[in-house]
Amino acid sequence: MERTLVIAKPDAVQRNLVGEIIKRLERSGLKLVAMKMVRAEAKLIEKHYTIDPKWFENVGNKAIESYKKKGLTPPNSDPVALGKEVLERLKKYMTACPVIAMVFEGNSAVALVRKICGGTEPLSAAAGTIRGDFTPESYQLADGGERAIRNLIHASGSSEEAEKEIVLWFEKKELMEYKLIRDSIIYDVDWKF
Ligand code: ADP
Ligand code: MG
Repeated sequence: MERTLVIAKPDAVQRNLVGEIIKRLERSGLKLVAMKMVRAEAKLIEKHYTIDPKWFENVGNKAIESYKKKGLTPPNSDPVALGKEVLERLKKYMTACPVIAMVFEGNSAVALVRKICGGTEPLSAAAGTIRGDFTPESYQLADGGERAIRNLIHASGSSEEAEKEIVLWFEKKELMEYKLIRDSIIYDVDWKF
């Protein structure tokens, strides 16, 4: 069993897509174990995105690759500098209005939620995913406006990242332990009705 942190970002809240996001995640078979509305402060967003010290470089490289794939020139060729700029933009974006933070638990929860979310850039994210279905957002659109990519949802990138993120957003007592009868159908070896 694995846990993952999900955040319905400010654009999801403003566009009334919170219900749609929860619907897609809860029907996956994962179990919702925590949920709350939070008005995040910039400090929390900074801590959240700097859990992995390699994040700056990774986020920068991902943007550079996306530009190159489209035959375009990236706005900056230094991935770390690009990543640092992204963090500043994320602080503005993620504190623009309250967000909904959630924790889902289940088999391969991290990978399953990432699959349902789709890739970072909505324009190139697969159809049928949350990011792919609900916004035409692209790297170019975000850069043109000097703002973060508005991609509706955050989902942890790995199990270790998830555990560190969950501690930032939730107190221990907010993480529920309970049994779902439904889980017998999903996980039990033997069942008969
Ligand atoms: P993901 O959310 O898919 O795990 P990252 O961890 O790489 O993506 O980036 C975190 C968030 O930062 C993204 O979801 C997006 O909102 C924003 N972001 C990423 N890259 C850029 C970029 N080049 N320009 C603006 N915003 C970005
Ligand atoms: Mg990430």
